[in-house]
Amino acid sequence: MITRSECEAAKKRAGEMIREAGIGITDKEIAEISVVDLGLSDLENEGVQVATFFNTKRICMKIIALWPNQTEPEHWHPAVDDDPGKEEVCRVIKGECRFYIAGEDTLKEGFIPKGKDSVYTLRHEVVCKPTDQIWFKPGEKHWFQAGPEGCVMYCISSCARDLLDQFTDPGIDRDTKIDESK
Ligand code: ZN
Repeated sequence: MITRSECEAAKKRAGEMIREAGIGITDKEIAEISVVDLGLSDLENEGVQVATFFNTKRICMKIIALWPNQTEPEHWHPAVDDDPGKEEVCRVIKGECRFYIAGEDTLKEGFIPKGKDSVYTLRHEVVCKPTDQIWFKPGEKHWFQAGPEGCVMYCISSCARDLLDQFTDPGIDRDTKIDESK
């Protein structure tokens, strides 16, 4: 749960980061940024801010803005009907993002959020800086974390069905609840 004022402040902050990264985004697109706390009520540490430029049945373009060291929890994009699941490429525009995928444990620059060892199982670290990009195959498990200055990146993919994303952490609810009274 996040409050309405927290949500609005996060949209504004993310919008400013996106503009500072040199990416054109309209005021309307900023107003429509998804602020995702994953039901963990700890946005500063675990969560993500996402601007969606388009999402059709076949292609999707999003900009992700992450606060310094903010972590998007471990997840995968499952198959839906004929679709094998979202295939995506993330390309860093500003700051740094540490991605974690299957493979040998090389975790060095990033960290597992406090007390969450059991729900962050992937420890193979790939650090991406501006112009670096990483490709996720349909169904491939991953998590990521911004570097110390935060991160802005493009995520280009096949159709996104965010509410169907699967997370390792059973405490996660992808659908963020907003307390409209505050
Ligand atoms: Zn993903």
